[in-house]
Amino acid sequence: MAHKVIIVGSGPAGYTAALYTARADLEPLVFAGPEPGGQLTITTDVENYPGFPDGIMGPEMMELFRKQCERFGTTVKNEVVTEVDLSQRPYKVMVGEDVYETESVIIATGASAKWIGIESEQTFGGYGVSACATCDGFFFRGKEVIIVGGGDTAMEEANYLTRHASKVYVVHRRDEFRASKIMQERVLNNEKIEVIWNSQVDEILGETDPVPKVTGVRLKSTVDGSTKEMPIDGVFVAIGHKPNSDLFKGVLDMDDVGYLKIKPFSSETDLPGVFACGDVADNKYRQAVTAAGSGCMAAIDAERFLEEQGV
Ligand code: NAP
Repeated sequence: MAHKVIIVGSGPAGYTAALYTARADLEPLVFAGPEPGGQLTITTDVENYPGFPDGIMGPEMMELFRKQCERFGTTVKNEVVTEVDLSQRPYKVMVGEDVYETESVIIATGASAKWIGIESEQTFGGYGVSACATCDGFFFRGKEVIIVGGGDTAMEEANYLTRHASKVYVVHRRDEFRASKIMQERVLNNEKIEVIWNSQVDEILGETDPVPKVTGVRLKSTVDGSTKEMPIDGVFVAIGHKPNSDLFKGVLDMDDVGYLKIKPFSSETDLPGVFACGDVADNKYRQAVTAAGSGCMAAIDAERFLEEQGV
């Protein structure tokens, strides 16, 4: 028999959709995806999720989300959906050879870190180049690192990195940050951090033998195009995210960047019974609390849809 609802993704949106659909007796099945718990599992303190006045660590919060939805009968599988067939209902969700039929789908696949797009970034990926300060900061104890970006993530990660690194340079392509004032101030007031304005990372320099090792970067001025090399031990990239919507290319409506299009004040995509929530459909707010809220909306939309269908 087909499932009533399958949820693809396990961040705040996916787990909240699971919580609500489980409590509506829809026995949701969640595919947790390649990064169970989503982006919050690679952050440190979450200070802006209501209900936690002292803050909470991201991974711990996602563990609580998971436990809460499992308590009401959600099945969570740590598997990655490889394909979907939304051409007719019941819809099909594929995990390798396994095919799961479902009357409705809630897409909560989130977004992933963006990269600068230079080859050396791949060469040294995991060997001095990282998109996650929380995951890899520890390896740079007493070393000097740069972080690329001017948004809240870059500010947060720069501060975090000062716990480990002896010096942190923030490299930003403009002469002002995009980040919120409070986050900027924390960076600008941190004496272990120095900002390099109007600059891009042109190349990451290092050795590849016997194992890749970053030794420096070549920076390029965004004002006059001049370049300069500086020695550095590590490069952290924090330049935003890309929606994880490749599974739905050519199937669901999305914008140029790949954010799924949903109807205003709703989670409905252009296919009946297919709902989207969280960062995969949100290029504006991208917060844990808004993702959770939209997961709740998707659950309620799915519940109403199934009721109308007599499921
Ligand atoms: P973001 O706000 O999109 O900022 C990306 C930054 O990277 C911008 O400064 C951008 O420069 C720069 N950038 C983009 N592409 C680049 C490239 N190819 N080369 C060099 N620099 C590049 O992304 P984010 O910082 O990840 O934040 C995403 C959302 O999450 C935001 O809404 C943010 O407020 C939120 N967030 C909140 C918190 C918090 O409140 N605790 C923490 C983290 C994130 P330009 O400024 O020149 O465009």
